[in-house]
Amino acid sequence: MTTPEKPPAPHSRSPHSRSPRSRPSAEPASSPSVSPARAASLHRRTLAWFDEHERDLPWREPGTSPWGVFISEIMSQQTPVARVAPIWREWMERWPTPAAFAADPESEAVRAWGRLGYPRRARRLHQAAVAMVEDHDGAVPSTEAELLALPGVGAYTAAAVAAFAFGRHAVVVDTNIRRVNARWETGNALPEPSLTRRESQLAAELVPDEASGESARYNVAVMELGALVCTAKAPKCGECPLESDCAWVAAGRPEPHYTPKGQAWAGTNRQIRGGIVEALRQSEDGLGREELLARVSEATTPTPAPERLASCLADLLSEGMVRDDGERLHL
Ligand code: SF4
Repeated sequence: MTTPEKPPAPHSRSPHSRSPRSRPSAEPASSPSVSPARAASLHRRTLAWFDEHERDLPWREPGTSPWGVFISEIMSQQTPVARVAPIWREWMERWPTPAAFAADPESEAVRAWGRLGYPRRARRLHQAAVAMVEDHDGAVPSTEAELLALPGVGAYTAAAVAAFAFGRHAVVVDTNIRRVNARWETGNALPEPSLTRRESQLAAELVPDEASGESARYNVAVMELGALVCTAKAPKCGECPLESDCAWVAAGRPEPHYTPKGQAWAGTNRQIRGGIVEALRQSEDGLGREELLARVSEATTPTPAPERLASCLADLLSEGMVRDDGERLHL
């Protein structure tokens, strides 16, 4: 993801953050809560901080295509940028356009996805590339509405690509931005478990208006602030440009008002499914069913029950993530 360089540059630099957002609740909206002067000060300090601390990510390089930004956003969902960067480079070299990618089979996408996790994203990305070829002359569409219509694209990704690839005005709301907004304005240690309408309204208020030409860069700047300074577990308030008027700091840094769910991995179906895909990814000619299950069982800790392993494989087969040619299983 690139986020627009300075103001409205069509290619951007995007930090990537990463977690898809949740659906707003039916909570009633409230009236604007942030004064124009407070918002303007927020923008000025956040952008000045970003000018000094922006990370050097490959998809932020000048000239990155909208396709490169699109891929970076999909890959960065729930995956750290350090793991994404090398695979992003490989993909851009191998598939520099949606057409090049769409021309190869979907299984190649899953194979190249490597260990990024959530390999279903690779399939959706391939389906999105096919849609770009069929409906958009092989280009990444530039509006949020068109982007949202692509397979696998949700509200966060549509806003992020519109902003970071095309410099459009958009309200990008990812986990990092939600956390900064919650702490700085509402004084809570964490945003609500699910995105609320009031929170969406606040996020829209805090983005510079379209006429300023700063909204795209602000989105990536505050996202970066959340990723590097206003982190979930140990925010570095002493290094933060917003400390002087941060509501959470003023409130004495209270504990979260709920206990967030952990992101358990070991022992989950997600772990087993990832193991199955990885075993097939490493095998050019596919694997027999028994051999596949034995390999995954051996490589997984804790060792999964055979029926659970079989159930995960059955799910992957029914979803089309794994193919059965009658003798061997393949991606
Ligand atoms: S001062 Fe601390 S809590 Fe407030 S926005 Fe900055 S890092 Fe986050």
